[in-house]
Amino acid sequence: MIGFRLEAEQEELRKSVEEFARDVVAPVIGDLYERGEFPYDVVSRMGRMGLFGLPVAEEYGGMGGDYFALCLALEELGRVDSSVAITLEAGVSLGIMPIYRYGTEAQKREWLPRLCAGEALAAFGLTEPGGGTDVAGAMRTRARLEDGHWVIDGSKSFITNSGTDITGVIAVAAITGTMSDGKPEISTILVPSGTPGLTVAKKYSKVGWAASDTHELSFDGCRVPEENLLGERGRGYAQFLATLDEGRIAVAALSTGLAQGCVDESVGYVRDRKAFGGPIGRFQALQFKISDMEVRAHNARLAWYHAAARLVAGEPVKKEAAIAKLTASDAAMDNAREATQIFGGYGFMNEFAVGRFYRDAKILEIGEGTSEVQRMLIARELGLNA
Ligand SMILES: Cc1cc2nc3c(=O)[nH]c(=O)nc-3n(C[C@H](O)[C@H](O)[C@H](O)COP(=O)(O)OP(=O)(O)OC[C@H]3O[C@@H](n4cnc5c(N)ncnc54)[C@H](O)[C@@H]3O)c2cc1C
Repeated sequence: MIGFRLEAEQEELRKSVEEFARDVVAPVIGDLYERGEFPYDVVSRMGRMGLFGLPVAEEYGGMGGDYFALCLALEELGRVDSSVAITLEAGVSLGIMPIYRYGTEAQKREWLPRLCAGEALAAFGLTEPGGGTDVAGAMRTRARLEDGHWVIDGSKSFITNSGTDITGVIAVAAITGTMSDGKPEISTILVPSGTPGLTVAKKYSKVGWAASDTHELSFDGCRVPEENLLGERGRGYAQFLATLDEGRIAVAALSTGLAQGCVDESVGYVRDRKAFGGPIGRFQALQFKISDMEVRAHNARLAWYHAAARLVAGEPVKKEAAIAKLTASDAAMDNAREATQIFGGYGFMNEFAVGRFYRDAKILEIGEGTSEVQRMLIARELGLNA
């Protein structure tokens, strides 16, 4: 049972990730971000701490915790840096969880121990150049069975963790046939990195998340063994919908962290910065801004706690996950804008964390379902536009 007070073990985890973010991530991330470099050392240390295996059973190399624990870690990382947090979020929610939930025993034994240890990263290739929202309608990537192998042709856009030196496997959604109702049959296929026919394009130049890894992928006659099918043939659509529902709670936790990080930074700054003969924190206009920021971070936290508690209890989360993602990404965006304003000109300088928060906040309203998609899901759950 998850209440509004963390259990001792949860608080211990939260505290250890808070310290890790402050002592290990904060000192190095500004430079990595500036140079657009992937934080290999930080990721390796997160692996050794067990963060990638938080919601996975110990028999597969995990920590035997749950999704709530993962979200707690994401919030604490997001408070300091989103590139690191999204690397963990995508690595676990989008990479590990589909293998853990739908993989065969052999697939789990092959991949999970290394992924949970942070020695390898998994990616999830769903979005295509033709569209991420109408992903089933826009899907052009196809896979056909030939001599006991899946042969994949097509391309994927914006795939997180897909081109690092430690990327191990990419779960690729592809059309594998036609269903009895005439709709495309979509399946998920595991493609180990380095498979001939898989080309990883050079990394994107992004507005934010500069130290995270994002690539376009193309598949040209890319062959993998038939056993690399993830779960059942034709279940790809249902698999990615469930994966995204969970993932939205994780992105909400990360977004809450960013929103809270803006409060942390602003409270410190207004105490030090002086104008008109004293600290700017004495101006009620700025105090009110910070109070509103704290309210938004608090509401965002309640929203993801609620959604994660339902998920852990095995209850439906479609609406709650959408509410959490919408609430928290709005909070992150609003707080990043206000924090930058409070910092004045320094807020526009990359050496301060709030500038990074400002650049990193926008994608939270886009990735794993845009804000429009979250509103569509909530409306549908209310019985509208059915
Ligand atoms: C940095 C980054 C990392 C990412 N990582 C991954 C990843 O690891 N794996 C992966 O598969 N994808 C990933 N994505 C893709 C991401 O999930 C998509 O960008 C997102 O889902 C939106 O899809 P799109 O960009 O094609 O926009 P579109 O679907 O083209 O949408 C464009 C606009 O139209 C709106 N819109 C579309 N349909 C409707 C509608 N019916 N009603 C109202 N408005 C609508 C959208 O809300 C949006 O505002 C990543 C993206 C980025 C930028």
